[in-house]
Amino acid sequence: MEAKNTFDLSGGYVLPGFIDSHAHLLSTGLEQTRLNLFEYEAKIEAIDAIRRYAEKHDKVVAYRWDESRWRDDPTYITASDLDGIVKPVVAFRRDGHMAVANDQAMRSIGQHRPDGIFREEDMQMLDPLVKPGEEEYVQALQTAIGISASLGITGVRDIVDRATYDAYRRIKSNVRIFKVIYAEDLFAGFGSDPSDWGVKTFLDGSLGARTAAHEGWDTKNLKMSEQQFERFCEGTWSRNLPVAVHAIGDLAVRVAAETMHRHAGRQRNSIEHFELVEDGVLDIIDANTIVSAQPNFLEWAGHGGMYQDRLGESWLYRNNPYRDILDKGLKLAFGSDSMPLGPMYGIHYAVNSEFSQQRITFDEAVRSYSEAGSYLIGAENWIGRIETGYSADFAVFNERNIEDRRRLKEAKPLMTIVHGNTIYDASRVDS
Ligand SMILES: [Zn+2]
Ligand SMILES: [Zn+2]
Repeated sequence: MEAKNTFDLSGGYVLPGFIDSHAHLLSTGLEQTRLNLFEYEAKIEAIDAIRRYAEKHDKVVAYRWDESRWRDDPTYITASDLDGIVKPVVAFRRDGHMAVANDQAMRSIGQHRPDGIFREEDMQMLDPLVKPGEEEYVQALQTAIGISASLGITGVRDIVDRATYDAYRRIKSNVRIFKVIYAEDLFAGFGSDPSDWGVKTFLDGSLGARTAAHEGWDTKNLKMSEQQFERFCEGTWSRNLPVAVHAIGDLAVRVAAETMHRHAGRQRNSIEHFELVEDGVLDIIDANTIVSAQPNFLEWAGHGGMYQDRLGESWLYRNNPYRDILDKGLKLAFGSDSMPLGPMYGIHYAVNSEFSQQRITFDEAVRSYSEAGSYLIGAENWIGRIETGYSADFAVFNERNIEDRRRLKEAKPLMTIVHGNTIYDASRVDS
């Protein structure tokens, strides 16, 4: 076979281009063009950043605060923390399953909550304040595509709403985008484009926002009964589309697994997140049900972390059991959920986990972030591997930077190549 291009990688270490199997590029872009609170390690610093931003803008829409990372006061931001800020403020928690609004913001939408906290479906009330303008969609997606390329990502399975879907039509992306649409935004023509991949629905919320369907918590957190979910699946499969179901708590994961088990082979479906997995569930997962998980969530899995705080000792060792999943021969595709975007960030946690049920090897983690993702989207015959006949999608690293497995989190690629074309070259980026 004749190569299209020849590269001198000057000793670079070549990995298959990463496929992020679950991302929200719109929010990755918006957190750049608006306000990103992820890096702040104290609550007071995050609130300060909101205050400073408010001085220069007529409203604040902020993303990615995570109380479990704060050294001073690991509690949610509430409306009273934002007292004295005269501009409307909406700040989304890292997981996107809850947001806090200040008095000014609540007044402008005619809603009031004593603590300013909006969870799950209630967050739609905040839309008038947070919905981007048409141009902002395009700008945010372009920003996020650039970030993806700089992280070695060559393919993204992006979870999109209708407005984001439409914005993609106005963009030329050099990163491969495979779109999953939210069930409520599904439209007649969806599925006719080869990059339209499937339909996402929710069985529950998140552990961080305390909205997961977890045994011992509120059973109302289960957003659909097993029958309702089965009907949803039937409807989606009858249109020849796969189901991507969000399931985090043990109850939700069980409903998802059992339903798919009863209909094995209908489509290549996925269970998204798959965090609390009861004994026996892994035995009923078939080859057409892909576990789509986020290894960066293991950041919360250590002693004293968020999983222990929310769930106690009993789930401490057993959440996100990647080792067990692979040992059962199941497909495990990795993504970031944009929390934050970054394959090496996630691979770092999967390789370095404190607990043996979660810990997998570097090679396994890279495969989950490439080959397994291509299988999930049915593209396993042409992307996701370095092999003759496959598209030349690569993430090139300096070997020195990935040798030390304890520091993978910091590893940045030298180059990203999609279909033989360099889409990112670190040596050409001004530092
Ligand atoms: Zn989800
Ligand atoms: Zn998500």
